[in-house]
Amino acid sequence: MTHIAGSGRSLRRVVVTGGAGFLGSHLCTRLVSEDVEVVCLDNLLTGDLRRVKRCPSHDCLWLFHDDSKNLSRRWCAMDDCGTLDKVRRYRERGN
Ligand SMILES: [Zn+2]
Repeated sequence: MTHIAGSGRSLRRVVVTGGAGFLGSHLCTRLVSEDVEVVCLDNLLTGDLRRVKRCPSHDCLWLFHDDSKNLSRRWCAMDDCGTLDKVRRYRERGN
């Protein structure tokens, strides 16, 4: 943990090994939701590379683990990137 001088805040940074698997990806998601900077390492030895996707939302650089049954997840987070992407596409259609 790194303390930011004078701010009273701490920057937490963790490394999660096996972060592309089912449990590891949920751990990463939970840590990110708690404002922890996460570095995910995974050799994908037992994983499925098709489940590691890049978020297509504009300005988002996140990779995420698609844990849906039919590999249909599109965005890293529906509340943020999914909604913003849908609004942007709606406006591009001229509505
Ligand atoms: Zn995203």
